[in-house]
Amino acid sequence: MGGGNSAGQAVVYLAGQATKVWLLVRGSELESSMSRYLVDRIAGLPNVEVVTQTHISGLEGEDGMLDAVRWRHGKSKEEVRRPIRHLFLFIGAEPNTTWLSGSGVALDAKGFVLTGGDDGRRPLETSRRGIFAIGDVRSNSVKRVAAAVGEGAQVVAILHAFLAGANQTPAATA
Ligand SMILES: Cc1cc2nc3c(=O)[nH]c(=O)nc-3n(C[C@H](O)[C@H](O)[C@H](O)COP(=O)(O)OP(=O)(O)OC[C@H]3O[C@@H](n4cnc5c(N)ncnc54)[C@H](O)[C@@H]3O)c2cc1C
Repeated sequence: MGGGNSAGQAVVYLAGQATKVWLLVRGSELESSMSRYLVDRIAGLPNVEVVTQTHISGLEGEDGMLDAVRWRHGKSKEEVRRPIRHLFLFIGAEPNTTWLSGSGVALDAKGFVLTGGDDGRRPLETSRRGIFAIGDVRSNSVKRVAAAVGEGAQVVAILHAFLAGANQTPAATA
């Protein structure tokens, strides 16, 4: 379930392990949310069926085991039931930041850590002076390995500048 690159990579992997893989997508096409190379790879996999404009309408099973998945087409409203034992959800990430509540570190509406701003804060600095955030947990970050590593390198220089200027002990959250 999902139409992004994470879902696409998972489908390519699972297609080599399973007899049949369904990719259920709410949108009308993969191209708008998935990289071209993955769209092409998936198109060439004979055991993958891409089902667009669809949402899951029901899960069936007993004793915690999945037996079947039902999905409904957005336009025709037709419901399909397939005996499926495994369901993988790739519909977005949820940051693990609840432990920051009460810390004074401001989060955006989805729970990602806000950094920077026009109020004199340093790049990557959170709403608490001397506390920095880098990588996926940072609001509006690029969500790529290279970006997270780059921010890690960048924040070291910022920390040195902070220590030189404020002579305080900073902390970084990732
Ligand atoms: C399925 C999938 C496929 C991806 N494919 C690509 C790709 O092809 N190319 C690409 O560039 N990027 C890809 N990404 C994105 C990439 O993985 C991330 O951008 C990158 O890992 C971000 O690094 P990070 O260090 O910010 O976060 P993470 O790698 O998520 O590391 C955060 C770490 O913090 C730990 N943690 C969380 N909460 C706490 C806590 N309270 N205390 C202590 N530790 C904690 C977590 O366990 C984790 O180890 C993919 C992501 C996914 C999910």
